[in-house]
Amino acid sequence: MLPVIALVGRPNVGKSTLFNQITRSRDALVADFPGLTRDRKYGEANMFGRRFIVVDTGGLSGDERGIDTAMASQSIAAIDEADLVLFVVDSRAGLTSVDQQIAEHLRKSGKKTFIVANKIDGVNHDVAMAPFYELALGDLYPTTATHGRGVKTLMTEVLDSL
Ligand code: GDP
Ligand code: MG
Repeated sequence: MLPVIALVGRPNVGKSTLFNQITRSRDALVADFPGLTRDRKYGEANMFGRRFIVVDTGGLSGDERGIDTAMASQSIAAIDEADLVLFVVDSRAGLTSVDQQIAEHLRKSGKKTFIVANKIDGVNHDVAMAPFYELALGDLYPTTATHGRGVKTLMTEVLDSL
């Protein structure tokens, strides 16, 4: 059984862009993964000679009625079935209350988590990343998913920790 890495975070932070960078092609999509659901996209990836499954989720609705309604059940399911979680955040938007709700769920889940500070292009790394260190949830890596920048460094550490 291949290790499973889930991408979670609120909508529009760059999860799907990162998924495409990690899997590299559409034919990476997995069709027969146990527990497969149409609500989550499963891709098989091979980086640095390591094979693993990466799971893309639709993210949160942005609804403010609380974590139960705001966090789509598929995101929670993706966290549950993952060996490791990449919690993707938007460096430009800063830390939002929905991010804090996801962080709370991740903390309770006890899953090994890496925080991906995406959209770091054009912003000061130290300033943009500072609020996310406060989550104390896991190591923090800056990326620009649209250009693949930072992805190799992130994934080297991720795969080393599996
Ligand atoms: P998702 O909803 O979390 O899956 O986010 P998407 O991957 O669909 O990306 C949302 C938008 O952000 C798209 O227009 C992407 O092109 C853009 N985007 C993703 N990553 C980056 C990034 O690193 N920098 C910038 N500037 N835009 C990005
Ligand atoms: Mg998406």
